[in-house]
Amino acid sequence: MEKWGAALYGDPCAECGFGWSLTPAEAVGVVAELPARCRALLKGRTGFERHPDLGRPPAAYVSHVTDNLRNWAERLAGARLGGAVEVPGYDQDLLARARRYNEIAPAAALWSLEGAVAAWTDSVTAALEAGVVLRHAARGEQRAEDVARNNAHDRHHHVGDIARILRYTGKV
Ligand SMILES: [Zn+2]
Repeated sequence: MEKWGAALYGDPCAECGFGWSLTPAEAVGVVAELPARCRALLKGRTGFERHPDLGRPPAAYVSHVTDNLRNWAERLAGARLGGAVEVPGYDQDLLARARRYNEIAPAAALWSLEGAVAAWTDSVTAALEAGVVLRHAARGEQRAEDVARNNAHDRHHHVGDIARILRYTGKV
């Protein structure tokens, strides 16, 4: 079984300080702030800055978070609307290569993120109300609230990465 959440990252997360005890509503709120936070961080920057220890430039982290939100929103919708509770893992690095994250215009990545956050918020809110529980191939049972916290962590963690890159390359 694959580790996830607090068991994988620590509570709080050893890298970004995210605490896992937040309520589902708080997790939804954390994700809702994401577009404005990323837009503010990238203001006046190219979005293609690099840090030697991090694998992606800021705009590519935005695209990664966007696709992660879309993926989980879709899975929760599948369970809620179609009873499809069995879900597989997905290869995020393969997706990054297929979509060529490093070549997506940062303005487009931010635009896409806004749509993904709106769709995710709708899907997660409905899944929380319906009490959706997924059965993930590698992680086992994933309640809607687990998905909300995991996605809120992903957001917090990668915003930290983006800020770190921009601090490293100056001006923040
Ligand atoms: Zn973290």
